[in-house]
Amino acid sequence: MQTIDHWIDGKPVEGTSGTYGPVTDPATGVQTTRVALASATEVDTAVAAARAAYATWGTSSLAQRTAVLFRYRELLDAHRDEIADLITAEHGKVHADGLGEMARGLEIVELACGIPQLLKGELSSQVATRVDVAAIRQPLGVVAGIVPFNFPAMVPLWMFPLAIACGNTFVLKPSEKVPSAAYRLAELAARAGLPDGVLNIVNGDRVAVDRLLAHPDVAAVSFVGSTPVARHIHATATANGKRVQALGSAKNHMLVLPDADLDAAADAAVSAAYGSAGERCMAVSAVVAVGATADPLIEKITERAAKIKIGPGGDPTSEMGPLITRAHRDRVASYVHGASAQGADVVLDGTDFTVEGKEEGYWIGLSLLDKVSVDSDAYRDEIFGPVLSVLRVDTYEEGVELINASPYGNGVAIFTRDGGAARRFQLEVEAGMVGVNVPIPVPVGYHSFGGWKDSIFGDHHIYGNDGVHFYTRGKVITTRWPNPEDAGVDLGFPSHR
Ligand code: NAD
Repeated sequence: MQTIDHWIDGKPVEGTSGTYGPVTDPATGVQTTRVALASATEVDTAVAAARAAYATWGTSSLAQRTAVLFRYRELLDAHRDEIADLITAEHGKVHADGLGEMARGLEIVELACGIPQLLKGELSSQVATRVDVAAIRQPLGVVAGIVPFNFPAMVPLWMFPLAIACGNTFVLKPSEKVPSAAYRLAELAARAGLPDGVLNIVNGDRVAVDRLLAHPDVAAVSFVGSTPVARHIHATATANGKRVQALGSAKNHMLVLPDADLDAAADAAVSAAYGSAGERCMAVSAVVAVGATADPLIEKITERAAKIKIGPGGDPTSEMGPLITRAHRDRVASYVHGASAQGADVVLDGTDFTVEGKEEGYWIGLSLLDKVSVDSDAYRDEIFGPVLSVLRVDTYEEGVELINASPYGNGVAIFTRDGGAARRFQLEVEAGMVGVNVPIPVPVGYHSFGGWKDSIFGDHHIYGNDGVHFYTRGKVITTRWPNPEDAGVDLGFPSHR
């Protein structure tokens, strides 16, 4: 069986820990490869390579860095299809969705190509007589990235292109469930001319993560994954003196007002709830229907859901693929099975679904729950599967109160034709990313991505200007060139004369 190893100092490095994890095709349930799981020693080797590379990369010119990034952008563009295939083979999502994540990842490479503009400093001339002040931003050193299974290429691309554009070197720990796409990203970066050691990959599980969090040469950690792990990463890495951005789980609401275009709202709800089998941190998992909208909306969602074609991600007619593992499939199904005992109406139950000839795949159909209570497990937990809950409220105010009571605050959307209500919602809702008649408001690359509350730990959102700030630290330089008129001792506190 083929093994996916580590990528350290510009070349493949065999795992020496002796431990491996299975990599499975979710459409068949068959193990296709195995991935090396790094020990602390292997992590140390990767960090040492990154640290050595930082000595030259950290002081390389902006022109040298952007020359590599522009070539990298072209290579990724040329290999979109191939990487999307790798994503489908290990994650299960349909090929078009893999291409979509490549497009969103490329946005950040394109942003990084413009790093000279983003890193421009500030200068205040003559702040006092013959005194100037300059502000510059410098890289941090070695940065680590730890990423989830659900975007095998896009989330790594949210991190390392901008980090290395800022002059840092990087150690990436991909999800052990989907390691191949990230590995390919590193190989292509080397082909683009990225010097050895600037981007390293250690495959592994929590053993590798915990070593990265403790390593004295790791200056900062970017994490994307579930809230319990995000909390652990943030607490541990900050206790070890590192800068941390840790993005966590979500429960994304869609508030539908009575004046909304219900056909557009139903299209949006189905696309955002069931796309990628609900395994998106920006998936809509709770529709909050105001007043009389609930019944017609549920009817329209049900009609549309019935037409979704579920099948292997490599089949161009499939619109939704399987879930990531059998255990996750069973966990998702358990929320549907438990829903009626907790007061919900099960409008659609997709838990019996399978694909003929591929019964060992991790299949599940679309489920729709109505009259879901805020105390139920289906509402309180992030299900991360194709299960959409509808909650009924009487007024806009009740809807916003319900949404704001959620511990999560990643994405949220309002569907309405009323500009005044939409504006009020933008200001009142407690979430980091708001859509107005847009169900999955993932910010474009030159704005930053991030939630509020338990959906993020740390002060910086990811990519965009926040990304540049996260991967650099500010320095302010006050300059006075010798002049005979300034001579003389002055023990007073420096003032602005
Ligand atoms: P996860 O938290 O289980 O794993 C994320 C990463 O952490 C993986 O690389 C994994 O190997 C590592 N890890 C897992 N358990 C660990 C532990 N105990 N200690 C140290 N490291 C550990 O998440 P996942 O299941 O891979 O991904 C799905 C989750 O990610 C969902 O909750 C989803 O909402 C979230 N997510 C959030 C965003 C966002 O931008 N907020 C984006 C994508 C996914």
